[in-house]
Amino acid sequence: MYRGRFAPSPTGDLHLGSAASALIGWLFARRAGGVFVLRVEDIDTPRVRSGMQERQLDDLRYLGLDWDEGPDVGGPHAPYRQSERLALYDSALATLSERGLTYFCDCSRAEIARVASAPHAGDEGPRYPGTCRELGMIERPWKRSPAVRLKVPNQDVTLDDRLQGKVVENVQATVGDFVLKRGDGVYAYQLAVVVDDLAMGITEVVRGTDLLGSTARQALLGELLGQRPPRFAHHAMVISSDGTRLAKRAGGVSLRDWRLGGAPATRVLGTLASALGLVAKTAQISASELLQAFDGKSLVGRTQVSVPEGAL
Ligand code: GLU
Repeated sequence: MYRGRFAPSPTGDLHLGSAASALIGWLFARRAGGVFVLRVEDIDTPRVRSGMQERQLDDLRYLGLDWDEGPDVGGPHAPYRQSERLALYDSALATLSERGLTYFCDCSRAEIARVASAPHAGDEGPRYPGTCRELGMIERPWKRSPAVRLKVPNQDVTLDDRLQGKVVENVQATVGDFVLKRGDGVYAYQLAVVVDDLAMGITEVVRGTDLLGSTARQALLGELLGQRPPRFAHHAMVISSDGTRLAKRAGGVSLRDWRLGGAPATRVLGTLASALGLVAKTAQISASELLQAFDGKSLVGRTQVSVPEGAL
């Protein structure tokens, strides 16, 4: 049984890029006759904005998307908000710790940067060189409240992305021992997302290529937790024609702005579908019409698509 999900963080209004993930995830799930889950990723509490979850769900409904399980409709894997699922992350961390796969680390970002051999282009700064690795989970006088890191095995992770093809990465060489729980007590996105995808029986993760770099870490973590990771499908990022990421642009591009400006959902979907190559030319189209014609082939191999400036 196909089980897909859309997992927005309620830190800001949804933009065309996140709408692409929701739409494509919905199309794959519905075409497969499967289940589509809505999960709210709200553990990074300092970044969460109040009322944003409701606004995001409302904007998805405006697009004509629906889901079978989620915070508003419930379901067999409730709760669907990460902030209410902390016990699952505690237990996954305990499992890894009991197997000697974790350690405390009180290195600062500056210390890590100083000893790292090469800068890493990813989102997490330089590769962590393993300074605290030998000290394990032993309490000691801390320089700062310690994070918990995963002892990453030195081996290739290989996976077959439905849209981007074969991915091979040695996570120890690229990222090193990555953080599972931050020094401030907040679980890392990497741990929470893996635990939830496994616990909710997600069979396919559909999201933008901006998260492709996290995939090997997540597949590895899934395997270390003793379960088969889901399949991944990373679709093209949607950017504006001047090359800037829509999420970062000010004004005029959130779904809410389109809506408040009076745009029918069919216009937003038409713009998005034509940028993604789901339809041949820009015309107004509904989610259910897109579903009738959807086969996903036009998404294969594309890493970035742009929306013309005039369309925004
Ligand atoms: N919550 C993440 C975000 O909004 C997405 C996580 C995922 O799809 O794996 O960027």
